Amino acid sequence: MIKRGPGDVLIFECDGCGKAVTGSAGYVHVDMAEVNEAADKSAVFKDDEILSPEVMTEYPKAVAWQVHHEACDPRPGSGDYWFGVDRCDTWPKLTHWTGHLMEKSWLAHTNWSSILCAIGEDA
Ligand SMILES: [Zn+2]
Repeated sequence: MIKRGPGDVLIFECDGCGKAVTGSAGYVHVDMAEVNEAADKSAVFKDDEILSPEVMTEYPKAVAWQVHHEACDPRPGSGDYWFGVDRCDTWPKLTHWTGHLMEKSWLAHTNWSSILCAIGEDA
């Protein structure tokens, strides 16, 4: 989980042990197999299509980014896309890194936008 800290600092909490992840002790990652599956499933939907409630349930859910210490990662060495927490541990870095991530065609199939909304909710 990524949360607001004091000033422009962001805090990363390990989804395994719940303790803070800093420096090179861990990373943020997303399961690319799940992302690719979500992309394939969503490909049958048109961008401007209005979905009925029944069809909405078939639309793939956004794949969740996770935060783990290297030692707490339940799937170490997986083919996940990952980056070190120091890439975006402040608001300016988060802005820069989000710009980088937005160049990835698959980003929309992850919950990155939800993370941004949650971090900035009461800003
Ligand atoms: Zn941990």
